[in-house]
Amino acid sequence: MWTTTIARCTLPSMRKRISVLACHALRAEGRPRWAVATAATSPSLHLTWRQLRGYGTQAPAPLPSTALGDSPGVRQVRALEQERQLEVEWEDSGQSLYPYTWLRDNCQCPLCTLQSAQARSLLLSQLDIHTGVDRVQVTDNNKVSIVWPDQHTSEFDTEWLRKRCFSPAARQALQEELFLNERMYWDSELRIPTANFEEVLHDDKAALAWLLALRRVGIVYLKGAPVEQGQVARLSQRIGYLRLTFYGHTWQVQNKSQANNVAYTAGKLGLHTDYPALHYPPGVQFLHCLSQAGEGGESEVVDGFHMADQLRREDPEAFRTLTSLRVDFTDTGSDYCDFMVQSKNHIIDVDSDGRVVRINYNNATRDSVLDLPLHQVQAFYSSLKAYVQLMTRPENMLTYKMEPGDMVTFDNWRLLHGRKSYLSHPDRVRHLEGAYLDWDEVMSRLRILCKSVHGES
Ligand SMILES: [Zn+2]
Repeated sequence: MWTTTIARCTLPSMRKRISVLACHALRAEGRPRWAVATAATSPSLHLTWRQLRGYGTQAPAPLPSTALGDSPGVRQVRALEQERQLEVEWEDSGQSLYPYTWLRDNCQCPLCTLQSAQARSLLLSQLDIHTGVDRVQVTDNNKVSIVWPDQHTSEFDTEWLRKRCFSPAARQALQEELFLNERMYWDSELRIPTANFEEVLHDDKAALAWLLALRRVGIVYLKGAPVEQGQVARLSQRIGYLRLTFYGHTWQVQNKSQANNVAYTAGKLGLHTDYPALHYPPGVQFLHCLSQAGEGGESEVVDGFHMADQLRREDPEAFRTLTSLRVDFTDTGSDYCDFMVQSKNHIIDVDSDGRVVRINYNNATRDSVLDLPLHQVQAFYSSLKAYVQLMTRPENMLTYKMEPGDMVTFDNWRLLHGRKSYLSHPDRVRHLEGAYLDWDEVMSRLRILCKSVHGES
């Protein structure tokens, strides 16, 4: 049941378990309800459970108590000489084990840590990875103290230690807290989470709700941006900085003569991710509508992760092919400067746990160079076709039409997007301005906003 917290925004310390500002499933009147943010957080950002029901195929694991805030104190510590581990027994009866080597490596004292940078100054050459301990104890102010054989002393904050517990459940919880990898899958019935552009720029709670939804759902609509160029750059400054590519700091999606990209025409664009011709494609994309075509020009989006998981179930062989064969992409031309880009990417990237982490697919820049053995060529086309057919099913694809002042922000590693063809009138030129960012920078801002909004030190 969806009664557990889906997103936990408890950075950087887990003093309290935040359920107010994070995305969470609520039980309201006996029925589970999905909320991206509470009304108090951002009145305009909302998703109801009904809209997302059935899309969340990855039910989150209950948060293990070892990763929760309000860390209990330490009852006692014991040095396990044989295992060379420190055993911590918590007041709630839980236990955690910490290898001596790891403890010595992570000594927080001013000799071992450059406190102004919160970085390790201890060199690996100075670390004895076979160290024993001289004595261990719990101090009066409830810290764990270790005296090493050379009489160097380390003191560890108990909450800091508990968060870093090596149990599988605690590790999983901390990784989720850091990276927010749980996603909510969706299909054509998604009502896109929507927020106000100026609110996101000026209100930290609104910005946090925006970024949490961008991570979880993969797409957030911002309304009310000024209808003039420069707004995607303004929004990127809210994060940090944008990602420069060969198409410039920002780029103008318009019908251009001698277009150096298929996007710069009035033609239909099939579902694609941007820039798989790079080995590290941009993680996040902003598109701001400055003027819209009278006829056509509707946007189409699909949840690429959801579709990949569906492909894995319906056609495991196709999934295996698209996650194992590397496809050549190419992009040549001149814009910010001249370029001749080549890459090799899987259509579907999975991590070492088999989890889908990135989609790389743009039919326009997929190279005619196909570096596959002859006998794999037909299987590759069959697999790609199966994936694309799944994505273009009406029940999976979401269509919307942007109006001037609308900005869409989406996960370019996850969503595939396209547009319908449009009629280009000289007196009403369709014009979108776009910009890219990377997930590292976006997640960095998200963590900082969590910290500032929750008022934690
Ligand atoms: Zn030290």
